[in-house]
Amino acid sequence: MQIADDRVVLIHYTLTNDAGETLDSSAGSEPLAYLHGRGNLIQGLESKLAGRVAGDKLDVRVAPGDGYGHVDPALTQSVPRSAFPDDVDVRVGMRFQTQSERGPQVVVVTHVSDESVRVDGNHPLAGQYLNFAVEITDVRAASDEELAHGHVHGAGGHHH
Ligand code: ZN
Repeated sequence: MQIADDRVVLIHYTLTNDAGETLDSSAGSEPLAYLHGRGNLIQGLESKLAGRVAGDKLDVRVAPGDGYGHVDPALTQSVPRSAFPDDVDVRVGMRFQTQSERGPQVVVVTHVSDESVRVDGNHPLAGQYLNFAVEITDVRAASDEELAHGHVHGAGGHHH
């Protein structure tokens, strides 16, 4: 069965950046299960999997525009240190959820001084080329319930 819209696809994958660092991998665990054509994978990867079959292996390089987007300088801002509670030890690398005009947003602290805290709301992988090594392990028809929910149930998918 070929990968097409509304089919359930199971893949093993390893994601590396251009420095050769492994960012994410399904190796050693269950394959990732997703419902094709519903935007559950980043677009640049999903589009390359269409028409493939179980057993296929492929390398997919995804540009930022088809991945997690470009770095948006407007998402980086300085916040007064006084905006954080005194009893919170604000450190570089901490993540906070904030409210923005676009709804809840996760920001990461990138710099801390006595007066101010610099936070960045860009996705950690924004601006990066993503190199996926993918092996397709199974392709099957989705159940009516999976189609109604827009995601996969059972092994590798949702349990609810
Ligand atoms: Zn469901």
